[in-house]
Amino acid sequence: MKYQKPKGTADILPPYSKEWQFVEQKARETFALYNYEEIRTPMFEKFEVFSRSAGDTSDIVTKEMYDFDDKGGRHIALRPEGTAGVVRAFVENKLYGPEHQKPVKVYYMGPMFRYERPQSGRLREFHQIGVEAFGSDSPKIDVDTITMAMDFLSQLKVAGLKLVINTLGDQASRQQYRQALIDYLEPYYDELSDDSKERLHKNPLRVLDSKDATDQEIVKDAPSILDYLTEDAQKHFAQVKEQLDALEIPYVVDSSMVRGLDYYNHTIFEIMVADSALGKGDVTICAGGRYNGLVQELGGPEVSGVGFGLGVERLLLLLNEQTQAALQASRLDFYVVGIGEAVQTETLKIVHELRKMNFVTEQDYLERKPKAQFKSADKLNARYVITVGEAEMQAHVFKLKEMATGTEKTLSLDELKDIKNDLK
Ligand code: ATP
Ligand code: MG
Repeated sequence: MKYQKPKGTADILPPYSKEWQFVEQKARETFALYNYEEIRTPMFEKFEVFSRSAGDTSDIVTKEMYDFDDKGGRHIALRPEGTAGVVRAFVENKLYGPEHQKPVKVYYMGPMFRYERPQSGRLREFHQIGVEAFGSDSPKIDVDTITMAMDFLSQLKVAGLKLVINTLGDQASRQQYRQALIDYLEPYYDELSDDSKERLHKNPLRVLDSKDATDQEIVKDAPSILDYLTEDAQKHFAQVKEQLDALEIPYVVDSSMVRGLDYYNHTIFEIMVADSALGKGDVTICAGGRYNGLVQELGGPEVSGVGFGLGVERLLLLLNEQTQAALQASRLDFYVVGIGEAVQTETLKIVHELRKMNFVTEQDYLERKPKAQFKSADKLNARYVITVGEAEMQAHVFKLKEMATGTEKTLSLDELKDIKNDLK
């Protein structure tokens, strides 16, 4: 029997795993600058945590969820996104309490699961890096969140970034706009796709997000949310734009942009790249926004939130070739070659000492002849090769060769310790 990984999953193998570590490290560093801390929540939750938060009409809930009844008859789902679980944890652990500084700012990274048709940059198990900030209604935190995502991507030298923003307004704006949209779409009812027919009355905003070509043609002339904003919602959005301008972060407003998840309001944004390794046209790698009702929806008090989620697989496809090559090049400080069976313990000891000195060190574990060991040292790109034979062992010394220059000297472990800083 030959086993294969499940469809839509990937093995992350060395040396490419270094690229993952690099991206994760940069995320941690950037988020720390904004005073965010890490949160880790379970990979699965009760199904309702996702269905209540993402909304009954979202693709994620209706089509893409990995859900099942566990042996105790509980309806469980593998997380399709990070926000719902974080909000559930926020409520359950009462992070809204007075002992927690507001806003509560957290980030996460890890696998997410969606039953989708796999293709490049679209998997069934994929990874997201995301952030959430709870407890501030200020447009400043919307802008901070956007800035942080942009900073992170700039750190990774991703080229051709395009920030697109929109507002979904507050509840009153949404209510008015919803009706206007239904009035506009109803005459086209028969031409709409089945999904959109179903959503027309449940959640008409989702029709704007349809990927069906006829739907897209119809919604082109639909009314704009921007004409239905309450004064408060207008003010919030105006401030977001003003502050982005002040920080000199370029953006475009796309009033037809809605997000796939139902919980957003006020500011929403996507960061896209144009004509990249991800494909022709604009492809979104990071998406987020404000979700003021979500904490309440999951049983908490009225606390607002802002966050984003970013697809790591898509991001990795965008790292430039130079970064990738540099990351994959392995760095070995020492390779220790032992000549003869009698020196096996001696080489082990030397290797152990070198690692204690913080040198990346490798040795032979296959009882190979010296020639094969030298070959390995070469392949692994070792900066120094140490050679020990029986005679050296008796004299408590070894040969040290600097590979770049070919310089060779004989010295003891203590002597090596003395010069270790020159070798680094
Ligand atoms: P799309 O329209 O591409 O399906 P989405 O709106 O479903 O995206 P979000 O739920 O906003 O995506 O997730 C945020 C990010 O996570 C996306 O911009 C993308 O980079 C990544 N992402 C989403 N689904 C997948 C997937 N199946 N495989 C890989 N990455 C994904
Ligand atoms: Mg999707």
